[in-house]
Order: sequence, then C-alpha cells, then structure tokens
Amino acid sequence: METVIVEITDNDKQREEKLKAAGRVIRQGGLVAFPTETVYGLGADALNPQASRRIYEAKGRPSDNPLIVHICDKKDLEKITKHVPERAKKLADKFWPGPLTMIFEKNDRVPLETTGGLETVAVRMPDHAAALGLIKAGGGFIAAPSANTSGKPSPTQAEHVVLDMDGRIPMILDGGSVGIGIESTIVDFSGDCPMILRPGCITKSMIQEVIGEVKMDEGLKDENPKKPPKAPGMKYRHYAPKAKMILVDGSQEKVQAKINSLAKEAVKSGRGVGIIGTDESCRNYPLGIVKSIGTRADEDTIARHLYGILREFDEQDVEIIYSESFPSHGIGQAIMNRMLKAAGHQIIKV
Ligand code: AMP
Ligand code: MG
Repeated sequence: METVIVEITDNDKQREEKLKAAGRVIRQGGLVAFPTETVYGLGADALNPQASRRIYEAKGRPSDNPLIVHICDKKDLEKITKHVPERAKKLADKFWPGPLTMIFEKNDRVPLETTGGLETVAVRMPDHAAALGLIKAGGGFIAAPSANTSGKPSPTQAEHVVLDMDGRIPMILDGGSVGIGIESTIVDFSGDCPMILRPGCITKSMIQEVIGEVKMDEGLKDENPKKPPKAPGMKYRHYAPKAKMILVDGSQEKVQAKINSLAKEAVKSGRGVGIIGTDESCRNYPLGIVKSIGTRADEDTIARHLYGILREFDEQDVEIIYSESFPSHGIGQAIMNRMLKAAGHQIIKV
C-alpha cells in the first residue's frame, strides 16, 4: 500500500480540502495518522468494527488493549455513553479540549472491536486544530491509539510515524512536532470513585481541585505483580528502546558520579554507552553518547523530548543507556511513569 504524506499547517490555503480528503479515508473505513497535542494518533472510524480492527493489524497491537475515541464536540460524549456523571462534566468543562481521557459505560453504538471487548469506552477531545478538523470531517468519532508500532515509543513527529507505518496505512497528516510529547491522563468514571489509570500532564492535584477525591490505580505503583494496572495497555512493556536502559536516582552530584562510573565500566568491556542527561548536566559526562532530554528549569521540555530521544538511541550503536531520573510530582510523575516502563523498572538509587 502506498502511504500518502500530507503536510498540514495552520495557515495552509488547501487545509480544508486536505482535511476533507483525510475525512473521506476515515469514512470509508481506512486509517489516517494525525497529530494531536500529546502524541501522533492512528485514527479510524470508531463506530466501524472493521476499521477499528485495521488499527490493531497496522500496529501489531494486542486485541485486548482498547482504543481511545476522539471527539470534536463535548456534546458528542452523550452519543456514545450510557451515563456521564456530573463530576466528569465538570472535568470536561475545565480540561477539554485537552490532554484528558475519561472512561464511561459505553452504549451500543460503540463496537466491542473499538473497546478491546470491554463494556466501557475511553473518550477525549484533543486540543489541536488539525485533529479536531479531521474528527469532524471523518464523522465525529475517531478511535486512535498512538501511531507507533506496538512496543515502540509513541511518535512525537510525523517522521516517527513514517518509520513505523509507511506502506501499512493510506495517509499520514504531517503537522510537525507535537506540543506535549506524552500521552493523555486517563481517569476512569466507570467505578464508584474516579480513578487515574494513567498519569499525564493533567495531574492528580489539578483534577482534585475541580472534583474533589480521585484515586490512583494501585496497579501503577512500580511493578506490582499482585495487582495488574486497570488500563490494559499499561501492563505491556511499552515505550521500550532497543538498548537496555537503567535509571539512576538520587542527588544530582551522586547520580552524575554513578553514571560516570557505570559508563566507564561499560566502555572498558567494549559496550556502546548512551547517557540521558539535561541541559544542566550533559557537560559533566565525558564518556559515551550523551544527549540532553531538556532542562530541569522547565520539565515540560523533558516530556516533549523523551520519546524522540529513545528513538534517536535506537538509531545508534548503543547497548546500554544510563539515564538521570526526575522528581515524581507535577508532570514529573507522568515522565517517571514512562521512563520506568522504558527501563523495565530498573532503577539504581544512590
Ligand atoms: P494509547 O492510545 O496507545 O495511548 O492507549 C490507550 C490507553 O487507554 C491504553 O493504555 C488502554 O489500555 C487505555 N484504555 C482505553 N480504553 C480503556 C477502557 N475502556 N478501560 C481501561 N483502559 C482503557
Ligand atoms: Mg500507545
């Protein structure tokens, strides 16, 4: 299959036509990869079971891992769910369009192929003009997981999507680099108390400010074999770079000293070493291929570059990556959640 790559910018004169053409692909049951403010998504008509199945095929995604349904109008939420609690409406008013996904009991319009066999459906309204335009042109309900091959880091640039999906899907909308860089926060409203199933840039305290008590899924805590995470996708070893990755946690000075001694050992034994530092620390690492993930003065930059850096290391002759770790509050919680998964939970405390 030939994959057409269509550039889409805000002040493009042919923008409407391009979105219409992409919408036609969706309405006919085809797949279109598109930018959102979080990561690139791989979209299909969420109400067409055959179209949803194509997403799983193109990604190699396990069939029990449900898709998020993207809408372009808050009112459409009621068209695919049985009941929307007041607290969820409050969150939608505060954070939609934006990087927040909420889970509800689904109604019969949503096929089980879209929800991985579950009676619940995850819904989000993205904060991205091209994404909203595509959803509208495509009929209003687009199922879209991240547009990577299953197990690879989520794509934050169209080039990443091309590497994973070229020849597998009919169209990629190229809207440049995404703004946030990690996936949405997921809050489950299908139980008694709202529960965060995946941390993202909308944090627990931001949610609590609007609706009061919200729980954190126990299954997210470290590798907890007794209690698997409630979001099926969180149990897989996602976001994995090809090289083995180890996080080092502690005071800045001790972390840098430890990474340097580990790098020295590895180089001595002839292994290619990668190091993930920050704008502040990179100059303190004399050995290995050293990359800055962003600046500690603005953790948003770290979220934005995380997946791109993991992909860059995949292109290089590196067997082991040592990475600094980050404070687990604010967006740092989402960053550490993704980094721990990338590292298969290998962390050295110093
Ligand atoms: P992705 O779109 O690739 O970021 O993955 C979507 C995430 O949402 C996965 O971790 C899914 O397991 C999770 N998810 C989607 N729908 C549901 C649902 N109905 N119940 C629980 N988790 C869900
Ligand atoms: Mg994903």
